[in-house]
Amino acid sequence: MNQVRGLAAMSKGAPFVRHDFERRALGSNDVLIDIAYAGICHSDIHQVREEWGPAIFPMVPGHEIAGVVREVGAAVSKFSVGDHIGVGVFIDSCRQCKPCKDGLEQYCDQGMTGTYNTLERDGVTVAMGGYSNKFVVDEKYAVKIAPSLPLDGVAPLLCAGITPYSPLKHWKVSKGSRVAVMGLGGLGHMGVKFAHALGAHVTVLSHSANKEGDARAMGADDFVVVKSPEDLKPLSRSFDLILNTVSAQIDINIYIATLKIDGTLVVIGLPGAPYPVHVGSLLNGRKSLAGSMIGGIAEMQEMIDFCATHSIVSDIEVISADYVDTAYERTVASDVKYRFVIDAATI
Ligand code: NAP
Ligand code: ZN
Ligand code: ZN
Repeated sequence: MNQVRGLAAMSKGAPFVRHDFERRALGSNDVLIDIAYAGICHSDIHQVREEWGPAIFPMVPGHEIAGVVREVGAAVSKFSVGDHIGVGVFIDSCRQCKPCKDGLEQYCDQGMTGTYNTLERDGVTVAMGGYSNKFVVDEKYAVKIAPSLPLDGVAPLLCAGITPYSPLKHWKVSKGSRVAVMGLGGLGHMGVKFAHALGAHVTVLSHSANKEGDARAMGADDFVVVKSPEDLKPLSRSFDLILNTVSAQIDINIYIATLKIDGTLVVIGLPGAPYPVHVGSLLNGRKSLAGSMIGGIAEMQEMIDFCATHSIVSDIEVISADYVDTAYERTVASDVKYRFVIDAATI
């Protein structure tokens, strides 16, 4: 077994404490990772606070993991000791179903195995996430990180990167596309960078006026502060694709009106509770409301390689383990520029 030190919430919403636990001994297809950095995703907060339903405690969250390979199992072929490596939102899947075979492991027919707050496929081991100093994972469920990319800025890409990247590719965003990103947080700021790099005209729809300068530096062409439905009226029928990254309850209907005919609003933010959709606003313009969840392993690798080619990383605030509770408060208050990343050496 591998002894690990993590940061755990011992019960719903509890402050984080240091927590020692064990990970499995290295299997022949496994790699042992020295974690360098772990990003704080808003999904961690939703789960620690049970905003998505009952959770498993003690919980060591974290599914934006970047580190260095320390040891490899006998059959490992993709990684060598010393390689930079990333792990995202899932660590396994059934490997047999069509989605798994098609590289859509996140949509596995039997359900993907999450990185934490779930049982591993043995049905007994509680998965423990990346707010920790070591990780053991099957090499198939990890991605290679080019040595040119800084590990701290890369960590958030394992969730906040792939989640906007996948729908931008699926809906074929390219030069000339008109894209809007709702919410400039972890997912949103990566959505802006990717859409810009793909050649789109990018508009940020934000409720934080003070983020305009940052948004433009990330590649946004327009920035609109949305405080009331009136603010969106001038944007009627403007966008081919809208990415909704907002973590809170909002009126989605006023945004649908800003889609062009045949446009699509893709929901990637997941506040937890249902919200109303006025279908009339979809009918008038043959519009689509869609969802998207992270991305498969092959697409994660493509996204990381895209970042290496285009020198893209996340804008981050590196924090120590003692700051995680404060970081949660600041994230919920939309006060993060634009992802908190825990330095694993401080755990
Ligand atoms: P985040 O960093 O907290 O960003 C969310 C942004 O939403 C904020 O920065 C803010 O942007 C906006 N916002 C927050 N509260 C708002 C409010 N009351 N009214 C209007 N806008 C508000 O969160 P994140 O880590 O990017 O995650 C965003 C959501 O995506 C979460 O619900 C998370 O669980 C979900 N998620 C989904 C997937 C997936 O696979 N689909 C993956 C990861 C995360 P402005 O200040 O610019 O308005
Ligand atoms: Zn996440
Ligand atoms: Zn499967």
